[in-house]
Amino acid sequence: MTSLDLRSFNFLAALQCAVMGAVMGAVLLGIRHNFPSNIKGLRYWGLAPLLALGATGFYALLGHAPAVLVGLGGNGLLMACTVALLAGTREFLGQPWRWWPWVALVLGCLAGLTVFFVVWPDYRPRMLIFGLGMAAICAAHTQVLARHGRGFAARLMLLAMAWQTLVLVTRALSTYWIDAPDTQRFDAGSVIHMVFVATFSFSILLVLVSAQLMASERVRQEFEHLASHDELTGALNRRAILRLAEQAHARWQHEGQAYALLLLDLDHFKHINDSRGHQAGDRTLVKVAATLQQGLRPLDRVGRYGGEEFVALLPISDLASAQRMAERLRARVEGLPADTDTPACTVSIGVARVQAGDASCDAVVGRADRALYQAKAAGRNQVSLG
Ligand code: GH3
Ligand code: MG
Ligand code: MG
Repeated sequence: MTSLDLRSFNFLAALQCAVMGAVMGAVLLGIRHNFPSNIKGLRYWGLAPLLALGATGFYALLGHAPAVLVGLGGNGLLMACTVALLAGTREFLGQPWRWWPWVALVLGCLAGLTVFFVVWPDYRPRMLIFGLGMAAICAAHTQVLARHGRGFAARLMLLAMAWQTLVLVTRALSTYWIDAPDTQRFDAGSVIHMVFVATFSFSILLVLVSAQLMASERVRQEFEHLASHDELTGALNRRAILRLAEQAHARWQHEGQAYALLLLDLDHFKHINDSRGHQAGDRTLVKVAATLQQGLRPLDRVGRYGGEEFVALLPISDLASAQRMAERLRARVEGLPADTDTPACTVSIGVARVQAGDASCDAVVGRADRALYQAKAAGRNQVSLG
C-alpha cells in the first residue's frame, strides 16, 4: 500500500465529503418539484454543495496553478456555498432574504485576500479574513435557526452551524496569533488544517441531511394540516372535531371530565348566497369561523361540521357555563360589522352537555342537534339547551 502524505489525505477526505454532498444536493435539486410549491429554499440548499465541490476542484490545483487563483477560486466558492445554505434556510423558514449584504461581504473578503496574496503575501491575514467572513455567515445561519427553527432537524442544523462558527473563529484567530508568517504551521498539509477540513465537510453533510429532514417534516405537517382542517375557513374539519369529541368522551368516561358541544347553524344562509352571491357566502363563512375562534377560550375547539354549520367542543363542567359561552358566540356573530363584501348574519345554537347514559359523543351531538332545531323553530338568532 502506498502511504499518503497529509496534504493528499486532506484533499481526499474533503473530496469524498464534497462528492457525497454534491450527490445529496443534486438529489435535492432533482426532487424539489415533488415538494409542495410553498416549501421554499430547496434550490439554494441543493446548489450549495455543488459550489463546495467546485471549491474542492480549485483546491485540487494547489501546487499546479498560481496560489492566488486557487485561493480566490476555492475560498470564493466555499463562501458562496455557505451563503447559499443560509439563503436556503431563510427561505425555508419564511424569513426575508437579501443577497447584496452577503455578496458585498464575499467580495470584500476576496479583495482582502487578493491584497495579502499579491501586495503583502502573508497567509495569516488571509486565514483571518476568510475565517471571520465565513464565521459571520455561519453565525447568521445559527441565529436564524435559533429564532425560527422548530423540531429535531432544525436543531441538528443549528448544532452543525454553531460548531462550524466556533471552528472557523478558533482557526482564524489561532492561526493569526500563534503562527509566524514563515512557519506556515497551520497551512494546507498541517494537522489542524486536516481537522478543519474534516469538520467543515462533515458539517456541510450534516446541514444537508438536516435540510432533507426539515423538508420532509414540513411535508408531513402540511398533509396532516390538510387532512384535519377545512380549506375554506381554516377551522378543524368534521372528521377532526368529531375525533376530538370522541377523545373528550373517553376522558369523561375514564376521568369524569365533562364536556359540552355547541352546534351552530347560520340563519337564512341560502338567502345570503342567493342575494349576494356564493363568494359573499364564502367570505361570510370565513368571517364567522374567525370570530368563533376568537370568542372561544384556549382549550375550546371549533370545527366546520358541514356547509354552514359549525361545532364547538368545550371542556366545561356545567350546562350553564356552556350556555353562557353559546350566548357570547351568538352575540359576536350578530355584532359582526356588515360591509360591501360580507352581509350581516346571525346564528342559531343548540347546546348539550355530556350526561350519564351517553354511550358515545353521538348522543351529545344528537341532543345539540335537537336543541338547534328548537332554536330555529323559535325564531332563529338564539341559543337553545338540549
Ligand atoms: P336556516 O336558517 O334554516 O338554517 O336556513 P339556511 O338557508 O341557512 O339553510 P339551508 O340548509 O336551506 O341552506 C344552507 C345553504 O348553505 C345551502 C348551501 O348552498 C349553502 N352552503 C353550504 N356550503 C357552502 C359553502 O361552502 N359556501 C357557500 N357560499 N354556501 C354554502
Ligand atoms: Mg344548515
Ligand atoms: Mg342555516
